[in-house]
Amino acid sequence: MDPIKWAKLVKKAIDGESIACPKCGGNVKADFYARIIDGEKRGFIILECEKCNERIHFSRIKFPDNLETKDF
Ligand SMILES: [Zn+2]
Repeated sequence: MDPIKWAKLVKKAIDGESIACPKCGGNVKADFYARIIDGEKRGFIILECEKCNERIHFSRIKFPDNLETKDF
């Protein structure tokens, strides 16, 4: 797994674009988890390929205020 390739997908996921797995080309599902900290929406992202099940976690993400996220 190449973490840099996955890291580049994070922005696309936040922008609501569909993303393809760097490993197998399958559809990648993105889950956003956030809470408000000091007035900013902060949390982490889990990207998971629906085809090969490759899974990667990115922490310390600052989300746009209007993005729909799950609480954690
Ligand atoms: Zn995959």
